Amino acid sequence: MTSAPGQEGFGPEIRHVPEEKARAGAARRRRSGTAETHLGTVRRARRINRILGETYPYAVAELDFDNAFELVVATVLSAQTTDTKVNAVTPTLFSAFPDAQALSTADHSAVEEIVRPLGFYRSKAKSIISLAGQIVDEHDGRVPETLEELTALSGVGRKTAFVVMGNAFGLPGLTVDTHFGRLSRRLGFTEEQDPVKVEKDVAGLFPPGDWTMLSHRLIYHGRRICHAKVPACGVCPVADLCPSYGSGETDERAAAQLLQYEFAPGREELHRRYLEGATRRELREEGYSLGR
Ligand code: SF4
Repeated sequence: MTSAPGQEGFGPEIRHVPEEKARAGAARRRRSGTAETHLGTVRRARRINRILGETYPYAVAELDFDNAFELVVATVLSAQTTDTKVNAVTPTLFSAFPDAQALSTADHSAVEEIVRPLGFYRSKAKSIISLAGQIVDEHDGRVPETLEELTALSGVGRKTAFVVMGNAFGLPGLTVDTHFGRLSRRLGFTEEQDPVKVEKDVAGLFPPGDWTMLSHRLIYHGRRICHAKVPACGVCPVADLCPSYGSGETDERAAAQLLQYEFAPGREELHRRYLEGATRRELREEGYSLGR
């Protein structure tokens, strides 16, 4: 692991792939003319997962929560908005309605007022009050742990269920959101668009014990480096293993300017604190904003 020459502030923990090596890898894959074997994809995918693990050793769910109830509610609220915005409203929400019992009997307009900044606030308020009622009526106030029970809750789809299973209960789950789907296609893990088919293809490349952390790492990578519009290929730690290298900015200096969150230019101190093991809560208390 070395830092890229001239990448001031880009930590030594980030794997630097020289441009020639990344280009050679992409050219070799194009020249071979034959599809990668399943075993070849498995090996490459697991290497990518290891490198992303070294790049983001502090990766966790970016929604703040203290228990399964808070996580399921926060995840439902995160539809069509950012985790940063959700994290800004949930302290007020959970201070007013700390558990499913309290939220199930909440006044709709009070909840709407709190979640208003997230957009779709009427339907989101209705959804979380209704799901709290289901948790109270059907599960004695405890968030259920199975995919079937979770997806039966109001506003809870497969992705939300896997977020809760993986992060609140330690059960393997692949959370196919927009970043996960885009990166899985760019990295050649799948050609599918449908989230359930993406999930099936990716599940076949990794043991279940890797699923939850892989999900965090792909989402982190999508938010910080492999952006939807212009991926920062020139500073990507898996550039030599990616069939899509070159679909974004390959110049190192220009790519470094595209980095986001704790990798964004000027946020080296925040990145250093993450690597030192500071938790998201500690960092917020130190005054850092953890979003973009
Ligand atoms: S940033 Fe570029 S090289 Fe890295 S994963 Fe995305 S498309 Fe591939």
